[in-house]
Amino acid sequence: PTSVLIVGGVAAGMSAAARARRLDEHARITVVERGDHVSFANCGLPYHVGGDIDDADDLIVHTPETLRAALGIDVRTRHEAVALDTVARTLTVRTDAGTRLLHSDALILAPGARAVRPPIPGLDSPRVRTLRTVEDAAALRAAADDGARTALVIGAGFIGVETAESLARRGMDVSLVDTAPHPLPPLDGDIAHHVAAELVRLGVDLRTGTAVARITPGADRDTATLTDGTTVEADMIVLATGTVPDTAVFEDAGIACERGAIVVDEHGRTSAPGAWAVGDAAQATDPVTGARRPVALAGPTNRAGRLVADDIMRPDTARPLPVPIGTAIAQVGDLTVALTGANHRDLAASGTGFHTVHLHPKQHAGYFPGAATIHLAVHFRAGDGRLLGAQAVGADGVDKRIDVLATALRAGLAVGDLIDLDLAYAPPYSQAKDPVNIAGLVGSNVLDGTLRLWHAHDLDAVLAEALVLDVRTRAEYDAGHLDAAMLVPHTELRERVGEIRTATAGRPVRVLCESGVRSNLAHRILAQAGFDSAALSGGMMTLRAAL
Ligand code: FAD
Repeated sequence: PTSVLIVGGVAAGMSAAARARRLDEHARITVVERGDHVSFANCGLPYHVGGDIDDADDLIVHTPETLRAALGIDVRTRHEAVALDTVARTLTVRTDAGTRLLHSDALILAPGARAVRPPIPGLDSPRVRTLRTVEDAAALRAAADDGARTALVIGAGFIGVETAESLARRGMDVSLVDTAPHPLPPLDGDIAHHVAAELVRLGVDLRTGTAVARITPGADRDTATLTDGTTVEADMIVLATGTVPDTAVFEDAGIACERGAIVVDEHGRTSAPGAWAVGDAAQATDPVTGARRPVALAGPTNRAGRLVADDIMRPDTARPLPVPIGTAIAQVGDLTVALTGANHRDLAASGTGFHTVHLHPKQHAGYFPGAATIHLAVHFRAGDGRLLGAQAVGADGVDKRIDVLATALRAGLAVGDLIDLDLAYAPPYSQAKDPVNIAGLVGSNVLDGTLRLWHAHDLDAVLAEALVLDVRTRAEYDAGHLDAAMLVPHTELRERVGEIRTATAGRPVRVLCESGVRSNLAHRILAQAGFDSAALSGGMMTLRAAL
């Protein structure tokens, strides 16, 4: 094509524009962007609000001038696409100087998403802002600099949590409200537990399972009334209740959409000839659960933008867009939390047969200074063991493990394959068996029946039907245990098998320890002695986090 027109000049749009130029020195490449800035770092916005990134200019990676100079791209800010004629292939653009018609051979729609605005009375208060643009971040930062002491963040997704965390570290009193039972709703409950505890440690007033019902603007500050009847006073309010694709203009033009997300094929082509869509605005199918929803993450978006340009410029060799598996990460105080693939809730809802293993390994050799626990959960398919998802939280080493697991998941590996991964090891970095290798060992034990697990969510049934055997030390038991649990430290187990058999009175025995390591040992002894035995996945550490 001799002309490429792109709507939206940030992650997907600019990736496509830059790649298109590198492939074709002669094409006319135009980007129209509604806002004042292109190529800005959305992901850095929460850190400008909190002050970690002091200068807003640092968030602006390129300007129209630098893009023109480096890439010869015609970038037009304050140009909003307001109508599209898919037959005549003309885009109507509103500018400060009036309306214009632009024509192109290829059109790339990369309008991203806009913040959801729930129907909360009082949401139009000037103290309420979303966080989507550099201007939003600058306004929130100015409010904080101008003496705001209290902040309310509505919505505990990634943006809400990052913003709350950043403001709390700045010393503000922050309340964080979400209807979900825990922060970062895509996380499994036992992983999110650690995030919630860290937010509380940072001083965040975390209110989950409740919603903001109304906001009452006041002279000095606003008052939010929650559905649980409590109130929160705030000098500034950040609305972070999720996003929806910003596609009304294109849906009105007849481009096929599903719940606002533009339907695309494996190359990003829309239902209109000559029009592609990419980024937060485009539909994607979850490879594990089959769920159809856009994935609003910068990594897949940037890479997909580039591939769409390939399909336009050299369709014969273009690779299809990889389906995003939802790998995401956040810093919360001293912790890092990350996930990839499907979570427990979505897997359970999808009807897929799956297993989960929970582990609490150290990120590096226990004898090397600074050893810290990683709480790790890995989901894999029953039968063939194919990896389906993983989550981890801890002070160190989380990013590396989730990235390895994301790579394994993308490659279609089974949990047993994790045993064979040759991962870098020296004491400051890992263990001779890396946590990912250990997940493979535990998972393959589960698959071949060497290890049988019970889970925190089985607790009620276990208490009703089984003997609970606690194989920790007396001191650990005394520091906190399940009322019904019989204590037999694992070192005494072999001598006391008869006593345990009597205590079971024919019931199954469900073993637990602190992390799952000793209960595995105990389970092997009991199973070989003929007991109906199972070990608690992740032990008391997971149980406490899940309850
Ligand atoms: P955007 O980057 O949103 O760009 C779309 C652009 O299109 C916008 O500038 C918009 O003004 C413009 N536009 C829309 N409609 C029109 C129109 N009709 N005419 C002209 N222009 C239009 N992802 C991560 O992976 N990690 C993170 O840590 C992370 N942190 C984030 C923090 C924040 C505060 C935000 C907002 C997002 C974060 N994301 C993160 C998500 C990531 O930024 C997005 O997935 C990514 O930017 C999407 O790229 P996009 O090009 O589809 O849309």
